[in-house]
Amino acid sequence: MPSCASCGNSRVLASSLTSREAETANPPPYGLLANFDSEGRIVTMECQGSTLDEAQAAFEDPPAYFNTCAVCGSDNIKWQN
Ligand SMILES: [Zn+2]
Repeated sequence: MPSCASCGNSRVLASSLTSREAETANPPPYGLLANFDSEGRIVTMECQGSTLDEAQAAFEDPPAYFNTCAVCGSDNIKWQN
């Protein structure tokens, strides 16, 4: 399961690698958010500009995509089984 090395958050991670909404006054900082359960599985994902292809790829390989803590903004995410 993932966890943030800075704040310990393991429930909400974001991806800075996907597309994100643009052309708005206040775009979200990340294109994709995911909520994880206590075993590290993705429960829900929230697209904020990412494409469906990106969301699907992220769902299939979360460590490759979810690289940012949505709580504190750190990119120091630890993945462990
Ligand atoms: Zn954090």
